[in-house]
Amino acid sequence: MTKQRKITLSEAEIPTHWYNVAADMPTPPLPPLNPGTREPIGPEMLAPLFPMKLIEQEVSVERFIEIPERVREAYTLWRPTPLFRAHNLERALDTPARIYYKYEGGSPSGSHKPNTAIAQAYYNAEQGVTKITTETGAGQWGSALAFACQMFGLECEVYMVRISYDQKPYRKLMMNTWGAEVIPSPSERTQAGRKILAEAPDSPGSLGIAISEAVERAVADEGTRYSLGSVLNHVLLHQTIIGQEAIKQLEKAGEDLPAVVIAPFGGGSNFAGLAFPFLHRKLSEGAKIRAIACEPASCPKLTRGVFRYDFGDAVGMTPLLPMYTLGHTFVPAKIHAGGLRYHGAGALVSQLLRDGVIEAQAIDQLETFEAGVTFARAEGIIPAPEANHGVAAAIRQANEAKEAGEARVILFNLCGHGHFDMAAYQDYFDGKLQKHALSQSDIDAALAKLDTPKIPAAV
Ligand SMILES: *Cc1c(COP(=O)(O)O)cnc(C)c1O
Repeated sequence: MTKQRKITLSEAEIPTHWYNVAADMPTPPLPPLNPGTREPIGPEMLAPLFPMKLIEQEVSVERFIEIPERVREAYTLWRPTPLFRAHNLERALDTPARIYYKYEGGSPSGSHKPNTAIAQAYYNAEQGVTKITTETGAGQWGSALAFACQMFGLECEVYMVRISYDQKPYRKLMMNTWGAEVIPSPSERTQAGRKILAEAPDSPGSLGIAISEAVERAVADEGTRYSLGSVLNHVLLHQTIIGQEAIKQLEKAGEDLPAVVIAPFGGGSNFAGLAFPFLHRKLSEGAKIRAIACEPASCPKLTRGVFRYDFGDAVGMTPLLPMYTLGHTFVPAKIHAGGLRYHGAGALVSQLLRDGVIEAQAIDQLETFEAGVTFARAEGIIPAPEANHGVAAAIRQANEAKEAGEARVILFNLCGHGHFDMAAYQDYFDGKLQKHALSQSDIDAALAKLDTPKIPAAV
């Protein structure tokens, strides 16, 4: 035994609090607006959708929020997660950089998403809610919530985008195994679904339609609430357990803070989870840490979008949120990283990007799969297509460090494994993946349709 590879923590070292970045932000996030009146919305408007404790967390500016004992207990089913030193990848890249990755793919559903699903199921159960509805596209979020609902004795009703329901039967079966009901969307069960089916009986569905169905079902029943797996402040909050563990693990490895932390970016939850606890050191102590969010070049809201109020869904039903967005009508190319095909970004990460606290990079799909295969061949783990964006950015950093002759410390989030995504790897091996050239005129066209409120230049 020469080099230490895995840095682990005991269950007793699971953090006791989540970290709330809102307490340290140079500019606090702007409030969500009522889409009708365009006035800031109060908690009462959200009460039919979420339990009160989650609504409180959504607007809290308390720096540390205690993790309930039963949530920490459920976290021990797979946490703490290991931090790996990527010795083999470093050798393969011949870089002087020291590369670390936090592996979230060892959770029961295979990604970071149970970190918030468990917390959300707990608060719903605590308030006496009996059923949670949600939507899922590729199935990562639906599986995480199905698992979490089972842990807290809740019913779970998942509206799964029709085309994914047909193409990803194993994700559906995972949800069924954990006791969830999975309904292909659009469905006959809701007004929203029936309306779509009347016009297009063969509709492949969309995340926007599935959201409408899940929300309609939650609002219609007193004992039912709705749940989201990304974007919202409370979801990002719950994920901060990742970065807090990583800080302890780097200390154990004898490292100072990393030069750069990197994570893939869909709505912002796994990026926030890893990066926010490091930003606490940056914002409160002036630590020099770069935080890089990695988005697909085909869905570049952070690098080519606008900072503006926009809807969270494609249909325009949700409150208006302040975000970097490509416009809620933007339809990204059908890349394999389904979890990153979202038009907008969460309010907290958007404001931090606006203020220059974090950075963003857009990476082409081809580069991400090259990186994923390099990683799998060196380190063994096969990353999810989403996670490959973080791997690719880490490899870019490692190559830069080599050119500069610097032993910089690089940390990235390996947010999920790719065991259900091997068809995507097949396409890559078959040479079917193309570079996506997203023209400025496509972006301009989607943005031109936006008639939502602008954000004053001063913010
Ligand atoms: C859902 C998902 C993402 C994207 O969502 P974020 O909220 O940005 O983290 C990324 N990777 C995996 C594996 C996912 O399941």
